[in-house]
This record gives sequence, C-alpha cells and structure tokens, in this order.
Amino acid sequence: RELLAELLQKKADAEPEIPPEHYRFDLYPEYLQLKEQQAQLQANDIRNPYFSVHEGIARDTTRIDGKELINFSSYNYLGLAGHPTVSETAKQAIDRYGTSVSASRPVSGEKPLHLELEQGIADFIGVDDAVLYVAGHGTNVTTIGHLFGRNDLILYDAYSHNSIFLGCVLSGARAMSFAHNDVADLERLLKQHRHRYQRVLVVIEGVYSADGDIPELPKFIELKERHKAFLMVDEAHSIGVLGEHGQGISEHFGIDPKTVDIWMGTLSKSFASCGGYIAGSQPLIEYLKCTAPGFIYSIGITPANTAASLAALQVLKQEPERVARLHARAQLFLDLAKEKGLNTGTSHGSAVIPVMVGETLKALHLSQQLFHQGINVQPMTFPVVPQNEARLRFFLSSTHTEAQIRQTVETLAAALAHIETEIPA
Ligand code: PMP
Repeated sequence: RELLAELLQKKADAEPEIPPEHYRFDLYPEYLQLKEQQAQLQANDIRNPYFSVHEGIARDTTRIDGKELINFSSYNYLGLAGHPTVSETAKQAIDRYGTSVSASRPVSGEKPLHLELEQGIADFIGVDDAVLYVAGHGTNVTTIGHLFGRNDLILYDAYSHNSIFLGCVLSGARAMSFAHNDVADLERLLKQHRHRYQRVLVVIEGVYSADGDIPELPKFIELKERHKAFLMVDEAHSIGVLGEHGQGISEHFGIDPKTVDIWMGTLSKSFASCGGYIAGSQPLIEYLKCTAPGFIYSIGITPANTAASLAALQVLKQEPERVARLHARAQLFLDLAKEKGLNTGTSHGSAVIPVMVGETLKALHLSQQLFHQGINVQPMTFPVVPQNEARLRFFLSSTHTEAQIRQTVETLAAALAHIETEIPA
C-alpha cells in the first residue's frame, strides 16, 4: 500500500506534459494554418499578391519586378507622397532636427514642428487642437483604450477598422457593434443600453475602407446628442478626400466640426507620411497629451514625418484642385464600371471603389490576370471581408489620368468576363 501511495504521490507531483505547440512557433497551430493557405495559393498557381516589392514611389503608377504598372493599391490619394516640396521639406527637417526626436514629447522630444502640425490639422478640421501619435493604428488603440473603461459602453459600426476594435478590447468597456451604417440599429442599442452605463462612445468612419461608402453623419450627430453620448469619427479615408477642400466628412455634409467629439485621422494617406492624430476640444487634447499611454510612453513622431505632413497640408490648402481631380477620377471610374455592369457595391463619393467578385479564388485569379496586363490592384478576401464577398479594391489617386482609368475598366471587365467562364460559380 505504501508503494502505491508513493506512486500516486509521484504522479501527482509530476509536471504535466506541456504540448510542444504551446512553446514552439514552428508548431503554432495558427502558423501552420497560414502555411496551409500559402500552399493553397501555390497549388492554384497564384502568385502571392501581398508583400510585392515596389521599387519606387507608388502613385498612379508603380514599379514591381522591374515592370511599370498602373497602380490602384496605394493610399496616395492626393499624390503628395513623392511630391517634390513634401520630400524636400522632410529632408530639411532631418538636417535641422535629426532623424529621431530621441525621447517622448513630454520628456525632451518636443520640436516646433510638432505644435505647428497639430495646430495646422486642428485649424484645417475646424476644432481647437490636435495631438499626434506615431501611427494611425496606435492612435485608435491608445485613445479608445485610454478614454473609456469598465463602466462605459462603446457602440461601433460593424465594418469598423481593426484598430477601433482593439481599442475597445483594451478599454475594458462593454463593446457592441451596430449593423453597418444603420442608424436605426444604433438607436435601438442606445435605447436599450444607454441608462446602464456611465459614458457611451459611438464610433464610425468617414469613409469605410472595404466598401468606399459614407455614413449619414448628421443622423449620427442627432442621435449622439439625444442620448448624451460621445461621437468619434475615424477619417483615415476621408480627410483630404471628402468635401470641396478635402476637409473631410464635416465639409461633405456642411456640419459644424465641433459637433463631433473626437476626430481621428492618419498621416499615412492624404498627408503623405506616417503617424496619426486626434483632433477636438482643448480639454480632450490636453488630457490626452498628459495621460494617453501611446503618447506619453512612446517616442515623439519623427521630424521627417512631421515635416512631410506639414508640407502636404500646405500643398493641399494651396491646390484644392487636387481634391476636385480626385473626385472627378473616382466618379469616372465608378460611371465606367457601372456602364460595364460591374458590381461596385455601395461605393459612392469616395476614392475607394471595390469591384465585387464573390469567391476568393476568383478574386485572386483576377488580380493576377490584371497584374499580367499591367494593372496593380489588391484582392480583399475572407476573413477580411465576409465569405463570398471577395473583391478587388481600387484606391483612386488624383494623379490617375482619364486614359489610365478607361484602360483599367476595359481590361478589368474583359478579364472578369473571361474568369467567370473559366471558373464557373
Ligand atoms: N483607421 C482606418 C479606418 C484605417 O483604414 C487604417 C489603415 N488603413 C488605420 C486606421 C490605421 O492607420 P495607419 O495605417 O496609418 O496606421
């Protein structure tokens, strides 16, 4: 009996065996799943459309594998990434301030350029002040994560960007999505849940990046005022794009920008750089600058990135015709695509135009065929978009010519028709 007791004790003391996939990345199940997906692409003779190396500046055209292509895969909406003045201003900032500010802004990283750009963005949008972060993604995560907490509720559009969703998770607030662009669904949730929480945040985007559609901002403002909630608008794809002067969705609808509590935007698209901003009232910005973890515990944005956006903002203000041209080019693409019977979903009035294809494999094949015919456009497939809603997503730029757009829609319509016969549903 003693022996048995000893054996049982030994068993109880023995360390439980830990499966190797719990401590080895080469056996990590999610990694193996990724390898499986890559193998499927290869088996179907599809070149990986991701991580293509662009050998120069990506605007209306780009160079991949030594080949010049018409480009629809970059966020260079106003053609300012690569604009001579923007590049020159960034170079001068490096000469004057170096390549890094070498500390967080509160510690010793503050440069005159930072305040100039923050005030420039705030004035452009029409609010008190702004704060800069080193990335657009981090801007959403840290701002939402920091401002809201366990007693709060966040209601976000179902098509929200990953960074909004991660901000909700970090905050610890109760987070629920409402149906895409559906004000009635949002109202239902507000009526049902508002009274049980302290603060409520509603998050929408100025332009949704998978579909290129625009929410009815005035209706969201009316709702948030009635239910005493905060409203945040992510303008990653609408600043520099919507409105006659590119001032974004508030200009598009002619609303007072101060009626939105939190304006978020990125420097990586129309502003030709890298970084993000929050713009709004003086108390909001002062509070974030003194307490937001992604701001106070992170390096200040680099002189070159700050200067590039400052210059981009200047060019944008001096040349509103860039915005007008972007609108005209996007409209031309949309009109021609519709003439050809292509399904562009709900895209309207923005610079993002999806062409719906359906199955993942079809979208991958189509993207590849267009690549061979001199057009670079990325597929969007499950799980980034719902199953069987795979699409090619065209980002328009003010630098595209009418001829490039006509050629693209012609080639696209022919290639799609060909694929539909090759790969029946
Ligand atoms: N918000 C939205 C809606 C976006 O589409 C993106 C990126 N495309 C971001 C935030 C993050 O911005 P960035 O890529 O500049 O970090």
